[in-house]
Amino acid sequence: MQQDKMIRHSLSLATLFGALFLQSYAYAGPIAMAIHGGAGTISKANLSPEQEQAYREKLEEAISAGYAHLKQGGSSVDAVIKAIQILEDSPLFNAGRGAVYTWDETHELDASIMDGRTLNAGAVAGVKTIKSPIEAARTVMDKSVHVMLSGEGAETFAKEQGLETVDNHYFDTDFRLEALKKAKAKLERDKTAWERPENLDYKFGTVGAVALDRQGNLAAGTSTGGMTAKRYGRIGDSPIIGAGTYANNASCAVSATGHGEYFIRYHVAADICARVAYQGLSLQDAANKVVKEVLVDADGSGGVIAVDNKGNIATPFNTQGMYRATVDTDGNITVAIYQPKE
Ligand code: ASP
Repeated sequence: MQQDKMIRHSLSLATLFGALFLQSYAYAGPIAMAIHGGAGTISKANLSPEQEQAYREKLEEAISAGYAHLKQGGSSVDAVIKAIQILEDSPLFNAGRGAVYTWDETHELDASIMDGRTLNAGAVAGVKTIKSPIEAARTVMDKSVHVMLSGEGAETFAKEQGLETVDNHYFDTDFRLEALKKAKAKLERDKTAWERPENLDYKFGTVGAVALDRQGNLAAGTSTGGMTAKRYGRIGDSPIIGAGTYANNASCAVSATGHGEYFIRYHVAADICARVAYQGLSLQDAANKVVKEVLVDADGSGGVIAVDNKGNIATPFNTQGMYRATVDTDGNITVAIYQPKE
């Protein structure tokens, strides 16, 4: 009897260890992540060493926070949120604090997030008082039956969900106000200047993150103040699933930054993942094709960060620079701003 009991006991221990082994095996997939802080006319000549240092430090802080979460076995959705919130809280980037000004000297923020495992997604557009638009997007994804909420409705929803709200002036910065005045002066002289933002010396400061977690789940998120001097409730690509943000475990996760009108027309983020899924292109080839050929032919400036379900990373852009950071499957962190030859 006693021996029987012992055998049963050892068998259940073996089952327990087996289950634990299988569980840790299932958690052993590669992890990788990339973030961006916008693209545009960014060159060594127009960035002081101190400014460059400040951008590099903030990018490193954000990717390290996301990566630490992935390393502990955390989800790609949480890693994306953690990294983006650090960038939203920094006045250096055009998202959250530091958001650009509309024509009317206010701030209207857009954000979206997508979970590549479920294809669930959430977005907010044109919100004025939500402190962390990416958190609001996530709450739309998790706590509502909708994908995108806009304006006052989105703000009411955020308040009902207990999210932090702030006065619109919380997003004010002197240098963005200066940028608005310059952009308005140029736009008043030439209404078509908007068509070629590089003529406005434009820097897209949108922030975004993409991640692959140990469970093989991809996620992408993007948060922005949109484009300087936007008016009439203009919404860009950042809150539009498939344009500025897309994630699908079957292919890849993408977050974009650039001239939103073009990214919407060419549904850039989804197009890159579709080329991976249906054409069998590598992530790098698919991303290069869309950013360096399709968008360039159309005159659409900007760039993307992308990660696929094996942890490959691509960060192509067709502008002078793009604030970005990556962490590859070996854990190497790279922070960069200018074209790769830097
Ligand atoms: N894509 C954003 C928009 O068009 C701008 C940016 O990337 O900075 O709203």
